[in-house]
Amino acid sequence: MTTVAEAAIATTDDERLVSGLTEQLVADAPPKDTPTREFLGAQFDRGLAWVHFPQGDGGLGLSPRLQELVDTRLRAAGAPHASLHNPIGFGMGAPTVVTHGSTAQKDRYLRPLFTGEEIWCQLFSEPGAGSDVASLATRAVQDGDEWVVNGQKVWTTLAHLARWGMLVARTDPEAPKHRGLTYFVVDMHGPGVEVRPLRQMTGEAEFNEVYFTDVRIPDAERLGGVGDGWHVSLTTLMNERVSIGGGVMPRGGGPIAEAVRLWDARHKGSNTVEDRVLKDRLAKLWIRAEASRLTNMRARQNRSMGTPGPEGSVGKLAFAELNQKIYELCIDLLGLEGTLYGSYAMVRPEHAGFGTDVRKSFLRARANSIEGGTSEVMRNILGERVLGLPGEPRTDKDIPWSQVPRS
Ligand SMILES: Cc1cc2nc3c(=O)[nH]c(=O)nc-3n(C[C@H](O)[C@H](O)[C@H](O)COP(=O)(O)OP(=O)(O)OC[C@H]3O[C@@H](n4cnc5c(N)ncnc54)[C@H](O)[C@@H]3O)c2cc1C
Repeated sequence: MTTVAEAAIATTDDERLVSGLTEQLVADAPPKDTPTREFLGAQFDRGLAWVHFPQGDGGLGLSPRLQELVDTRLRAAGAPHASLHNPIGFGMGAPTVVTHGSTAQKDRYLRPLFTGEEIWCQLFSEPGAGSDVASLATRAVQDGDEWVVNGQKVWTTLAHLARWGMLVARTDPEAPKHRGLTYFVVDMHGPGVEVRPLRQMTGEAEFNEVYFTDVRIPDAERLGGVGDGWHVSLTTLMNERVSIGGGVMPRGGGPIAEAVRLWDARHKGSNTVEDRVLKDRLAKLWIRAEASRLTNMRARQNRSMGTPGPEGSVGKLAFAELNQKIYELCIDLLGLEGTLYGSYAMVRPEHAGFGTDVRKSFLRARANSIEGGTSEVMRNILGERVLGLPGEPRTDKDIPWSQVPRS
């Protein structure tokens, strides 16, 4: 049995290894002078992309806690982060491929995903299946070594830039809804895939509708077994919550820094009743942001190998509610200027999420309590799977999907 002292030495060795490799990376590929993709490729090849992934797949087979060492050092050196250009691939595609993919799939997908050469999108939601995504209706029918897919997905972030999509489709309508699904990687540039923009209240269209008409997917691009799609999807969904709400900013960083900046620039030193109320709101939100940051830090430290658990919903829920409150305060700090919005011109953005204008961030933050699972659904998960409260009634759980009434 390993003693506490031995465990401490083992951890120290791993830390030394990771720190040494990171220093070597910074020396061999100085981040500020190395093109982004080249730098990220060098990071991947040294096993510093996701240190907990196996060697050869962008990792070193070490504890995920050690990634913090890499990220902190690279951030200080001004290095690019892979999640910026390819957030869905980085945070959700990669863990799904590494957990369920074949050796050929891991070799083919992980490196270009990390370098941002190939963007990924998530094809789960449909017009009739969002919170209850297991009820989805897009069909995949096997034809020899291929599957033929027909159906429609919606709210597909970055589909207009994506090369690959994580697709869940119904392969057995006679099985109960969770058991008749299969998971595929689909070529978004293939024949029969049509991507149409959907505009958001920011004016931008960062997400899309995606139509599949007789799209052919080789069976080799299936992730996991036939009928095992729900199980594979859970890996994506659990990682989605952590990737949206589990980030650890520097203290006082992120959205709350915007609010403090606006306070300092426009209200500092004033002692009017209105400003004292605004200051009180700012102080309360700063404390909540710090509590949320520390909670995420603790969750990251406790995280072991494998798929994150339902506790990832804590960070996702807090992130959504806090962002909305902080950006509401920012608009109040701006006063009437808060109502001046640059332009609602339709833009197809290169990135999803917040920008540099707090007015845009205020509008964009409204989606935080919907995307990646709504706040109501996060509360259900926490109630049932973390607190052990009774589950809500699920009347369609055990009957064939084909017999479930739907509109
Ligand atoms: C900005 C943005 C980006 C997105 N990107 C993607 C993407 O890339 N890929 C993708 O597949 N999807 C994406 N989505 C879709 C997102 O996952 C869904 O919108 C979300 O899961 C909710 O589904 P829905 O919109 O169908 O709402 P519904 O499920 O119809 O919910 C409607 C309302 O009912 C509530 N509700 C539903 N069920 C319950 C319940 N059991 N208990 C209590 N309340 C309930 C919900 O909380 C909500 O308030 C994105 C959404 C947004 C806003």
